[in-house]
Amino acid sequence: MAMNVKPVAALEPRINEIRNLTARIINEQILPNERELWAMRRGGDATQAERDRARELRQKVQDKVKEAGLWAPHLPPEYGGSGLSFLEHAYMNEVLAYCLGAASLFGVVAPNSGNQKILLKYGTEEQKKKWLVPLTEGKMQSGFSMTEPDQPGSDPRSLKTTARRDGDQWVINGHKWFTSNGKRADFLIVMCRTDDESSDRNGRMTQIIVPTDSPGLKLVRGVEVWGHSSDHCEFIYDDVRVPLENQLGSTGSGHQAAQDRLGAGRVYHCMNSVGQMWRAFDLMVERATMREVHGGTLETKQFIQGFIAESYIDIQAARLMTIHCAQKMDSGGDARTDISAIKIFVPEAYHRVVDRAIQVWGAAGVSGDLPLAAMYQGARTLRIADGPDEVHKILIAKNVLKAYHSGETWDFGN
Ligand SMILES: Cc1cc2nc3c(=O)[nH]c(=O)nc-3n(C[C@H](O)[C@H](O)[C@H](O)COP(=O)(O)OP(=O)(O)OC[C@H]3O[C@@H](n4cnc5c(N)ncnc54)[C@H](O)[C@@H]3O)c2cc1C
Repeated sequence: MAMNVKPVAALEPRINEIRNLTARIINEQILPNERELWAMRRGGDATQAERDRARELRQKVQDKVKEAGLWAPHLPPEYGGSGLSFLEHAYMNEVLAYCLGAASLFGVVAPNSGNQKILLKYGTEEQKKKWLVPLTEGKMQSGFSMTEPDQPGSDPRSLKTTARRDGDQWVINGHKWFTSNGKRADFLIVMCRTDDESSDRNGRMTQIIVPTDSPGLKLVRGVEVWGHSSDHCEFIYDDVRVPLENQLGSTGSGHQAAQDRLGAGRVYHCMNSVGQMWRAFDLMVERATMREVHGGTLETKQFIQGFIAESYIDIQAARLMTIHCAQKMDSGGDARTDISAIKIFVPEAYHRVVDRAIQVWGAAGVSGDLPLAAMYQGARTLRIADGPDEVHKILIAKNVLKAYHSGETWDFGN
């Protein structure tokens, strides 16, 4: 079933153009070849010929994406990207996310994309040449190493990994895990505690680039996730020495850099979730109109009609909340409360929609023949990664209460 994207009168012409160009690539190049393009996901079941064919097909799609001027939307042209604006990129994401994993064919691969943004904003010209350019050209891979097994990731100021100055080097000691892409990474951006007596609460952390072949850096394992081995890795940093010039930004800017990485990123992730809900919805309705049970198609049963209606409401609410938040950010407004609200609501809505789609498909819903099982795991994981729901609820309540205590009320029209 092709994605149905039509021009929207209220959108800028360039955003409509980007949505349509992206939909054309999704519908013509990716959807018909979905199984072949991701043959490698079948692990040992994929033959060498299938893997070679997947590589060939992927290259072909990537060439089409570049021809359409949509490659690496998050990067400016001087670093090989298409330099889309924030809103253009957000609207593009809901379309490209219709196919799980399609972002990689558009040059956006986490955690490299987040690291590219940090290098772009905080890197020196030298660092950009050494790390950003090869990352963008696909000659290097990277990871972001912040979360620790023994400290709560939801309270990043508590992280224990330290970096101590010794002459012209940083000496790093600590224990990290869930560093995604860790096995393939050539370098990691590591969140380190560099505080001294004078540091304020937000000035205790610094991000430092650590090449993965540095002596003292030990890859312990890829942590098993959802019953499968993974590339979310555990690392020990044991007196790892890197030159001082590997520091990103000023000393103490690490917390702010992590926030920068997440702000716009949360809108992009939510628009991705909207695209995936859209796909799950199409699959659910398609199955409901075709599957005959107990004397009628599923679409004639009220339980299933309820699933369709509730999913429609979930998707519309998630989409409009995200767009509202994106527009507020784009116009320079204070969108912190809205960012937290979408970070909670959208993954939950995504989780509900995919859950219903799986139910309608029965056994096929949890099989590898459809993208639903992978979406379900992704939706559940999103409620933990990038700050768990509870932390965002605390932030929303804090911002709202602060407004009321200062004698104002909340302006929902804003
Ligand atoms: C698939 C995956 C990929 C990841 N990739 C990366 C990566 O590349 N790099 C990286 O550094 N990290 C990564 N992470 C880690 C992720 O960022 C953390 O898991 C997340 O920040 C939560 O930290 P934590 O796991 O330590 O949970 P904790 O901080 O221990 O929190 C556990 C639970 O406690 C509850 N909680 C927390 N605070 C409060 C509170 N104030 N009040 C009430 N309840 C509360 C919440 O329910 C929360 O889920 C990844 C995680 C996953 C699952």
